[in-house]
This record gives sequence, structure tokens and C-alpha cells, in this order.
Amino acid sequence: MKQPNILFIMSDDHAAHAISAYGSSINETPNLDRIAADGMRLNACFCTNSICTPSRASILTGTYSHVNGVTTLDTHMDNTLDTFPKRLQAAGYQTAVFGKWHLGHGPEHDPTGFDQWRVLPGQGHYHNPVMLEPRNDDRGHEVIERGGYVTDLITDDSLRWLDMRDPDRPFALMCHHKAPHRTWEPSSKHFTLYDDVDIPEPRTLMDDHEGRADVVKAMEMRILDLDPIIDLKALVPPGLSERDEISWRYQRYIKDYLRVIASIDDNVGRMLDWLDDNGLADNTLVVYTSDQGFFLGDHGWFDKRLMYEESLAMPFLARLPGVIPAGSTSDAMAVNVDFAPTFLDLAGVDVPSEMQGRSLLPVLSDAEPDDWPESMYYRYWMHGDWAHNVPAHYGVRTKTHKLIGYYNDPLGQAGAEGPVQPPEWELFDLVADPAEMRNVITDPAYGALARELQIELRRLQTELGDEPHANADAELDRLLA
Ligand code: CA
Repeated sequence: MKQPNILFIMSDDHAAHAISAYGSSINETPNLDRIAADGMRLNACFCTNSICTPSRASILTGTYSHVNGVTTLDTHMDNTLDTFPKRLQAAGYQTAVFGKWHLGHGPEHDPTGFDQWRVLPGQGHYHNPVMLEPRNDDRGHEVIERGGYVTDLITDDSLRWLDMRDPDRPFALMCHHKAPHRTWEPSSKHFTLYDDVDIPEPRTLMDDHEGRADVVKAMEMRILDLDPIIDLKALVPPGLSERDEISWRYQRYIKDYLRVIASIDDNVGRMLDWLDDNGLADNTLVVYTSDQGFFLGDHGWFDKRLMYEESLAMPFLARLPGVIPAGSTSDAMAVNVDFAPTFLDLAGVDVPSEMQGRSLLPVLSDAEPDDWPESMYYRYWMHGDWAHNVPAHYGVRTKTHKLIGYYNDPLGQAGAEGPVQPPEWELFDLVADPAEMRNVITDPAYGALARELQIELRRLQTELGDEPHANADAELDRLLA
């Protein structure tokens, strides 16, 4: 087979439960569903650090945050690191990235390994965004002003580059949408979508967090913490009970979130149509994913960061006729550090031993190996973040359970701040309690299992070269004694 093309489409904060191929009860995404219908849906794809900058670095490098050094939003990626686009470029691929970069700017952080790039500075804007592109003299970037809507523009740039490419060489294109990141500003086309309907509320919208860790209760990412003007674009009607205010806020929030997703879906459709029209659908791997998940009112929250399912899970839809069976799904566990080895493997390029992930190609080919991982390691470093007060934590998720250790220490990481707090632990039974409402860490019935998970967590940390936090470790010993 000819070296396949790679079209990697990644959005920002698009939770799997807002994709109809994943059974969304709140929206329809017909074009994303085309990828699923003609390819595979991964049911257990997880982020190793659920926040924008670190996830992007892990995807490019195939390594965990503690290895690539990109632990928080403020630790920008060293652009001399080894990445899959560099290796594909060296193997003859045409490479490009358009859209959100969010790994830093300037000579040490601008995109490298790409024949062409045009990216948003930082988070970028939804309407009439400025973008950065390389200067002709190869010295830094220049700023250009664009007119239009960001999701359309990123797609326009991607399609223009595809039109101009050398048809005799394979391409790897990273199309990175800003949407549906906060502050959810729809295009004129979708501005009034959902105006006349009520979006169903998640079952855990009114979760009071009883029994969960104190630091989880103290997080400031409740629907009630959304800014009425900036996020909800309206004043809260006076006289509402707290419960009614949460419901009102949820509708304001979720409708704009879904409106900006409608534009992504349209634009993914444009790219799939382009592949069809150019006879390239059969030899192009198309991936749709997001840098992490998001809380859509689940547990009363918005945002991500936490190791709870809605934030931890990444959508991952992949299509490559002849390799990936149409209409298939897999429960095999995948993590974002697996993406880079997957693309290199597919291109027939050696995967460097420094990359910590595994190629997903056997899984995507519906041939999950017998020794495939049954657990994954997670670590969120950005303790006491100025915006949401989310605690630093790490943990292990197996197919049936999740153990989370809030070590509550900024550990001197750039962008992490706030006081060191006593460590706390949570344990969830994902079979009996998939919504993660019942923390069973002190339930004697789970004692033996908790000790097994403790051993598995340490095993993963050793295998991946990370270190446990001494106080958190001691606290878990105490809880399980
Ligand atoms: Ca993100």
C-alpha cells in the first residue's frame, strides 16, 4: 500500500458526549458520524493530563508531561523536541498545521517540523482572529489579520494547502480548531440554533459533591461560577432559586457550546467532501479527536482538568478504508501519547524508543493484541490554578475502577500556585457507579481492591519514570491500613 495520507482534525474541549456517534442526547453531528460510520470509534481513549497545552505536547511527542516538560499551561513546549511531524517530514511527507497551537510562540516555541503553518496566538479569537505564520526570511513569525469566523478560516487554510500540495507525495495535515473552547461564540450561521428548544440536563447537574474530596468540593468550575456577561452573554434573571438559576445558566452555556460544535461539524464535512472529490478518501487516515473532554454541566461543572470521566475521555474517531473496519468500535484502552507512534507506524517509519505510547494500528485494525494495557496513568500538575482552583492529582484508571490521589502541592511548576494542602484520595467503582457519585476509598468492601490499585499506580509510575508524592503515598497507606 502507498504511504497513506494523514488528516488529523483536533478540536479544543469537545467532549465525546457531545458527538452523536458517541450517543449524545444533546446534539447531532452528522459529519463526525460519517467518520465513525466508515471507520472506528474508540470507547476508551483517555487524556494523560486533561488540559490544552500538555495534551498537545503529549500528542506531538508521544511522551507524558513529566518527560516532555509541558506540565501546565505556562510550560511552553521546547520546539527542538522530537515529534511525529518531524519524523514524517524526514520520511518524505508534506506536513502542515493550521489553527490552534497553544504551545508557546517565539523562536523556541513556534511550530517546527511543518512545511507550512498558520496558527492562532495563544487561545485565539472566534471572530476576525489574528494569526501567526512564518516570515519569508525564516526569522520568527509575522502577525496577519483575518476576516471571518475562526472554524471556517482554519478549514479554508487547510483546504488551500491541500489544493497546493504535491500530489505525488503523501501529506500529514493537522487541522486544529479553536472551538468549542470557552467563551463559545457562535458563527452567524448557527447563532439562533437551539433558540426554540430546551437541551436535556445531565443527570448529575445538581450533584452536591457529598463524599468527594474536600479539594474537589472547593473547585471553582461550577455552572454557578460562569461569568454571566462573558460566558453566558446575558444577565441572570432576578428572583431565581439556586436550582432554577443552575438550570437557566446550563441552557445559556450548553447552547453556545453546541452552536460552535455545529460549525466544526459543517467544516469537517467540507474536508471529507474534499477527500471524496479528489479521490483521496481511500488512502487517507482521517482522525477526529479533541485535546481532552469537558464537563457539560456534569457534576454541576464546566471545564476539564479533573480525572473524572467526562474530562478524562477523549473522542477518537478514525477512518481508513481497507485497514479500519467500517462501523466498528473498540473498548481497548488508548491514551494521547499513543497517537504519535500510531501515525509513524502507519507511515512505515520507525517509532523511536523514547516515545512512551504504543501504536494503535493493531487496535484500529480490529486485532487488539493479548498484552494490550488494561490501565492508564493520569497526572494533572496545575495545582490551585488561578481560574478554577483545581488541585494537583494523579491516578490510575482500569477498565472497572479509578483511584485518584489529590496530592495538593504545586511542586514549583510554572503556572501552579496556592498552598500545599493535606492529601486526599478517591476511589470509584465505574461498573456500579459510572457517574462517579460515590467515593468508596474508606469502604472496607473495597479494601483489597484499593490495595491492588495502589500497586498498579506505583507500577505505572515506575514504568513511566514518574515519582509518587511522599505525603500522598503515606496518606493512602494510612487509609488502607
Ligand atoms: Ca483544550
